[in-house]
Amino acid sequence: MSSISKYFQDLQKEMIQWRRLFHKYPEPAWCEFGTAAFVAQSLKEWGFEVCMGKDLICDERMNLPITENLNKFYSLAKERKDLDKALLEKTKGGYTAVAGVLNCGDGPVKVFRVDMDALPINESQLEEHLPFSKGFASAYDGFMHACGHDAHSAIGLGLAKYLSQHKEKLQGKLILLFQPAEEGLGGMAAVVKHPLFKKVDEAYGLHVWANRASNEFISGTFGQLASRKFDVEIIGKASHAALAPEKGINAMLPAAEIILSLEKLKAEFPSHIRLNVGQMQAGTARNIVCPEAHLKIETRAGDTATRDQLFNESIKTIKEITSKYACNCKISVVGESESAASSADLAKVVHQMVMSTGLFSHCIETELHNTYSEDYCTLMNHVQKTGGKAVFMGVGASNQAGTHHQTDFDISEEILWKSATILAELACYN
Ligand SMILES: [Zn+2]
Ligand SMILES: [Zn+2]
Repeated sequence: MSSISKYFQDLQKEMIQWRRLFHKYPEPAWCEFGTAAFVAQSLKEWGFEVCMGKDLICDERMNLPITENLNKFYSLAKERKDLDKALLEKTKGGYTAVAGVLNCGDGPVKVFRVDMDALPINESQLEEHLPFSKGFASAYDGFMHACGHDAHSAIGLGLAKYLSQHKEKLQGKLILLFQPAEEGLGGMAAVVKHPLFKKVDEAYGLHVWANRASNEFISGTFGQLASRKFDVEIIGKASHAALAPEKGINAMLPAAEIILSLEKLKAEFPSHIRLNVGQMQAGTARNIVCPEAHLKIETRAGDTATRDQLFNESIKTIKEITSKYACNCKISVVGESESAASSADLAKVVHQMVMSTGLFSHCIETELHNTYSEDYCTLMNHVQKTGGKAVFMGVGASNQAGTHHQTDFDISEEILWKSATILAELACYN
């Protein structure tokens, strides 16, 4: 066993504590106040240069929650006794990105990406759900770490601790980026233009997969779906449904026709695209002609050009239908990600590294055609366009519980120390 894997086996107890702490306080996109403050505090303690909040976020934040929700989660974080108030203050208003930088002389610039956000899902309260029976289930009603970003944050902290204690093994500049708002997409776009990421040689991202066996490691994934999420607001006119229905403009009619027409549009594209109207809200009362309708829609495709085409066609359809019904419509993009491919040669390096550790019995070098989207793709493309290499890795984390975005989602905690070992090996590798 290498000295690195021995280190992380010894650190496993602490990593579990971190993971359970993050799990207990799940904060959704742009509300990762407590998580970011805890991370920043640890990075500072361990000698990292910390760049966070408004100093790190340099572009528009898409899909920002309403002020009431931002304030709610900020107040919850403020109530916690374990957080540094000055660091917490820096995240106020939804500025929840943190980067820790370790300068180790000449050498490559390596970025390790970690995501921190949770989801708006109620966590299972069944005895067989381990986080519940062990007492670390969500303390925030209606929110849950159901994608494993609590594990990612713990793995990132483990990596940070190791690096800070083994600077003699490192060369160049190491950047640990703890990004907000991966779910819903848009967190990366807000930080990627920061000078820290101007010239990155290698970028590493990792996701734990509860739907894969815990002996599996995927060194490089290709073809995450490019995605664009948008809201449509259709404005009609209210009127008395019996006295003067002719004076109203029913916004529900174009909304209904849009849903049906987009289903037809979908059929004109290849089967692997995704187009989904996930939510419709319309109307105020039975006896009022519906004045407003709201749709939440997402488009996804295997490449960015097809996604754009699908999006543009959808918008054209929506505009034609709303004007046919004499309604106004407002369309706002609330999140997007590109498609990306791991750099094949870097995936090979990762693959050989993983094999040499002997920690995973099933190692897959590359995996094609994934059916999810990943905000990290924005960083991958940025790094590759500026001459660097990037990989997105997957770690099987099944513990036979529910899978991603389900109320009984859970992971095998074994993968905490194993994943951190791989990342630390990659940080030390030259
Ligand atoms: Zn997710
Ligand atoms: Zn995720």
